[in-house]
Amino acid sequence: MKERGGAMSEETNRMKKRKKYLKLRKNHAWVSIPVFLITSAWCAMVFLGLAGLVLQLSLETRLDSAADYAASLAGMYETGGGEMLEMFDAQHLTYRLEQEDGKVLRQNGVISIGSQKGYYERVSENLVTPVSLGRTRISLYSDQSSPFLRQFSADTVCFDYSAICNIFFHEIASAVRTNPQMLPAEEVPEAEDDTGDVVESPEELVLRMPLWIAADANGGTERLLLRSEMTFRLSDLIMLVFLLGSLLVVFLVIIGFMLFDTISSFADQARISRIYFTDFTTKGRSRMWYLFRGEQVLRSRYAGKNRLAAVNLRFVRYQGFCVCHSLAEGERLLAEIHRRLDQQMHKREVCAHMTDGDFAMLLHYDTEEALAERLQNMIGMLQQIETEHSLAFHAGVAPVSGTGIRKSRKKADIELEFTHAGNACATLDGSDESGVAFFDQKLVDEQKWVDTVTEYQRRALENEEFLVYYQPKYDPQTSQLRGAEALIRWQSPEFGFVPPGRFIPIFEKNGFITEIDHYMIQHVAEDQRRWLDAGFSCVPVSVNVSRAHFIENNLAEQICDMVDAAGTPHRFIEIELTESAFFDDKKAMIRTITKLKEYGFAVSMDDFGSGYSSLNSLKDMPLDVLKLDAEFFRGEAADTNRGEIVVSEAIRLAKSLHMRTVAEGVEVKEQVDFLASQGCDMIQGYYFAKPMPGNEYEQRMESNAQEQTGALQEAVAVQE
Ligand code: C2E
Ligand code: CA
Ligand code: CA
Repeated sequence: MKERGGAMSEETNRMKKRKKYLKLRKNHAWVSIPVFLITSAWCAMVFLGLAGLVLQLSLETRLDSAADYAASLAGMYETGGGEMLEMFDAQHLTYRLEQEDGKVLRQNGVISIGSQKGYYERVSENLVTPVSLGRTRISLYSDQSSPFLRQFSADTVCFDYSAICNIFFHEIASAVRTNPQMLPAEEVPEAEDDTGDVVESPEELVLRMPLWIAADANGGTERLLLRSEMTFRLSDLIMLVFLLGSLLVVFLVIIGFMLFDTISSFADQARISRIYFTDFTTKGRSRMWYLFRGEQVLRSRYAGKNRLAAVNLRFVRYQGFCVCHSLAEGERLLAEIHRRLDQQMHKREVCAHMTDGDFAMLLHYDTEEALAERLQNMIGMLQQIETEHSLAFHAGVAPVSGTGIRKSRKKADIELEFTHAGNACATLDGSDESGVAFFDQKLVDEQKWVDTVTEYQRRALENEEFLVYYQPKYDPQTSQLRGAEALIRWQSPEFGFVPPGRFIPIFEKNGFITEIDHYMIQHVAEDQRRWLDAGFSCVPVSVNVSRAHFIENNLAEQICDMVDAAGTPHRFIEIELTESAFFDDKKAMIRTITKLKEYGFAVSMDDFGSGYSSLNSLKDMPLDVLKLDAEFFRGEAADTNRGEIVVSEAIRLAKSLHMRTVAEGVEVKEQVDFLASQGCDMIQGYYFAKPMPGNEYEQRMESNAQEQTGALQEAVAVQE
């Protein structure tokens, strides 16, 4: 359960890391650019709109009073007639009176009517009171001297803001030039000059914008065109400029904030990327960078056209190097390795430091041979870093793209590819020599199985999913049952019936084998006790004890305690040790074997002749049984004269050392006959029986007992 929990938390960690990386990949900074542009455009539009409105309102207020003035003069003319006109003349008004058809009846002053003419529709009135019916239409003509009206359509005119601004700035500038100490005056002097738009008094600047306003007279049969002026004092202008300036400042501040925000979000992005993409130890590229950039390259078209391989380059025994020297020294070396690897990268190739002594690379290649050679050269170059120490490197390669590799670019997963490269690298584990290995799917499946077994082992043990099978051993002379070997089987609810070859080597590696050995000894001892109690004629049963177990100091005591706990006499339990075990600590081995023998357990050497030459061990170890490996009876050599010589000599050797012999894996009668002729004590093989469950084995014991009684009775009868 604990292992399962560990695996799960590892998985959640992996998911978390991936999420972080995906978040990083989604660069949101660019979003602030359109947001900034839209906000700026909006601010500019609102500012221009408001500025236009303010300008328009102030122009229209002035236009209104000019129109009222013209209308009142027209009214005075209607009531006063010619006398009034004379009065107008006397007052130097500039006007023209004309008939409906355009015939001029009378005029005074310089008639400087411009070319733009038509109605001006007041917008402001509708704006202020939108429900008001109809618009005020004022009949206007531009003035030649200052044309700030624009023909909008055939019969309408409007203000020309660019012309107005032009006039404003031009006139203000020239006024300031001529009279730098302008001050607002108490009164606006009368405009005597018809030609100038701007009249300067020594005290104040007044901007005058001339235009002609037409007012109907005499019931609409005549029209009075009056030259009027829209005047702006300096104080008005200051107010206007202040208002517009304030608006401008507000909008500029908003835009400034937005700009700052945009820049800082880009800066943040860059900073975050720098933190994530820089490796803490080597100061080069980090694991995150490998995932980020590697995936970019893998998904690019380049990967579709070129061969790419993920590589896991490992500095072998990095931990050992740190222990011997120092962590700082180790990290300095890693940084140097990283720097040198970086120099070897071509365009679009990626190199990063992962963890400890592991580096990841994404390399372009043409052929696997060329890639292997390149990696060998890289390793050679890295070994030059430290000439005093011999450094070793393992490189695992997983081809990920290119011809012959059908993987969807969209689904490319750089992390998985690196894991594959890591799997390939792991095949070189245990070797201190540098080397290059390529990824093989079988290796991955094997690794997955190892992980699964490791995950399920404890639960399987607790649920008693492991079964004890018994393979009988027979006397080849008499075909009598002499013993049995207990062999484990796994009846898994998930994976079905699993033979020991699929899980015992895994347990031997991960250390779980010691618990399995205990489990087997306990079960065999209990079975034997039960069978003894049930009156079966029991024979010794051998149990395999792994080499890993023999490292334990008090192994003999442990076994003794377990067998005693079941109440089984020790002579019914035999301990099998594999030949390879004899290579470990010899003295400890002898001690344990001696103790076991003192306790009354028989000890056998399993798999004798299976590869290790342990004749020497035979000399030193006080063993009881020699188990000839099944290899002796398999293959072509088995039937040859030489094969037979070896077997018979091995039996002879065992006999002279006072050991019993068991031949394993015997399948055919000829072999049984031969072994019988050579004096082999027992045969354990399919010829007699395959490993079987306990209840079947019980029957074997029973039939053996019956045969024995039968044979005994026969012998007694013969004697009589
Ligand atoms: P082993 O200890 O050498 O066991 C003998 C193996 O040879 C058994 O394989 C048995 O089924 C097989 N065998 C016996 N006679 C014949 C035959 O005539 N022909 C053929 N082809 N095979 C025969 P099994 O049960 O698959 O076990 C394989 C190995 O797994 C064992 O080899 C032993 O090393 C290990 N093992 C099995 N059970 C245990 C256990 O409880 N503890 C430990 N530590 N190892 C175990
Ligand atoms: Ca065995
Ligand atoms: Ca064996």
